[in-house]
Amino acid sequence: MAFDPASRIQDQLVFGEFGDVNPSITDSSTYTFLDPARMEEVFEHEIEGCFLYSRHWNPTNRYLAEALARMEDGESAQVMASGMGAISTTLMALCSQGDEIVCGRNIYGGTYALMKNVLPRFGVTTRFVDLRDHAAVRAAMTPRTRVLYAESISNPLLEVSDVPALAAIAHETGARLVVDNTFSPMILSPLRLGADVVVHSMTKFINGTSDCVAGCVVSNKEFIGALNDVNTGTSMLLGPVLDSFRAASILKNLHSLHVRMRQHGHNAAHVARRLDSLGYDVHYPGLPGHPHHALLLKLMNPGYGWGGMMTLDAGTTEAANRLMQRMQEEKVGYLAVSLGYFKTLFSSPGHSTSSELPPDERAAAGISDGLIRFSIGLDADIEHTTARIAKCVAEVGVKRRIATAG
Ligand code: PLP
Repeated sequence: MAFDPASRIQDQLVFGEFGDVNPSITDSSTYTFLDPARMEEVFEHEIEGCFLYSRHWNPTNRYLAEALARMEDGESAQVMASGMGAISTTLMALCSQGDEIVCGRNIYGGTYALMKNVLPRFGVTTRFVDLRDHAAVRAAMTPRTRVLYAESISNPLLEVSDVPALAAIAHETGARLVVDNTFSPMILSPLRLGADVVVHSMTKFINGTSDCVAGCVVSNKEFIGALNDVNTGTSMLLGPVLDSFRAASILKNLHSLHVRMRQHGHNAAHVARRLDSLGYDVHYPGLPGHPHHALLLKLMNPGYGWGGMMTLDAGTTEAANRLMQRMQEEKVGYLAVSLGYFKTLFSSPGHSTSSELPPDERAAAGISDGLIRFSIGLDADIEHTTARIAKCVAEVGVKRRIATAG
C-alpha cells in the first residue's frame, strides 16, 4: 500500500495536561528533579520522559518532532529555530576538517553561501554539480566526501532529484545523502527513497502562515541523538533551539498540511496550465512537458498533487519587475520572498533568494534574469486569479515561447 504521511500524523494523539485536545505548551527553560542521581543520569544519556533543559529537549518540541518523524517515516526528528539551523547543524555534524560535500548547483542561495563562504573556513569544501548528470556526480565524489546534498525539488528551478539514484551514488563511497524537502512535504518522502537525512525549512509549507521561521531534521535515532549529545552535538552546542510556543503553533498547522498541499497543487496546476497554453515560458513539474514530470510521477506519494511552486520566465529583469508590480497592484498576491503561504507570493530569484550565486554560476544553473518564482496560494477562486495573472502578463508583453506561440 502507498505510504500516506497525513494518516501517519493523524494517528498521533497527544492530550494536554487536563485532557486538552492540544498538548500543553512547555513554558520552562529548565526542569526539576526529585533525585540528584537521576539528573546525573539524564546528562549522561537520554531517558524517555525526562527533560533537563529546553535547549536540549522540551516536551512541546518533542511532540512536533515526533509528528515530523511520522510524516517523513523517519525514526526520529529534531526541530530547530530555522531551516538554516537545521542545514548547518546537520552539515557540521557530518563533516570535519578536510571533508568534502558534493552539492547540486541549483540550490537555495543561503545553503549555497553556507557551503561556499562559511564551511571552507572550517576546512570543509564543496563541489557544486548538476545533479541530473549522474556521471558528473559520481566523478565529483572522493573518499573524503561525507555528504551528497540535494533539494528534492530544487529552489528555484524546480528540478526533481532522482533520490534513489543519488542515494546509490552516495552510498557507493560511504557518504550520506542529505535531502532538503522544503518544496515537497507530503509529496515526496526522501527517507523512503534512500536518503539518510531530511531537512526542512518549516518556515514554508509546513507552517504555512508566514508568521515564523523554523526548521527540522529527520533521520535515524543515532543521528538525531548525536545532534543532541551534550558534549559533541552540533544542535546542542550551537543552540538553534525552537521556542516551544512556536513549536505548538506549527504542530497545529501541520495537521492541515495535507489539505493545503492538495489545494496549493490544484491551484498551481491551474495557473501553470493556462500560462503554458498561452505559450509563455512556464515551468511546473505537474505539466507533462516538464523534463522531470515522469520522474516525479514515479517517486511521489499519490494524492498530494504536484506542489505549489512554479516559475515563469518574463525574459528580462525589467519585464519581471514590471510584471511583479502589476500583479501586486491587481491583488494576485505579494511581491515577497518565501513560499508556502496561503496567499500567492512571487519574487525574482536572480535578484533575491539566489543572488548569493555569482552571475556566471546563476547562468550555468539556468537562473535567468527574468525568472519569476511563484508560490501559488490557497485561493478559493483560482480561475479569477489566473485571469488576473494572464491580464498582467499580456499587459507587460511578456515574451512567449517561440515554438508554441510565435
Ligand atoms: N531550504 C530551502 C529550499 C529554502 O527555500 C530556504 C529558505 O528560503 C531554506 C532552506 C532556509 O530556511 P529558513 O529561512 O527557514 O532558515
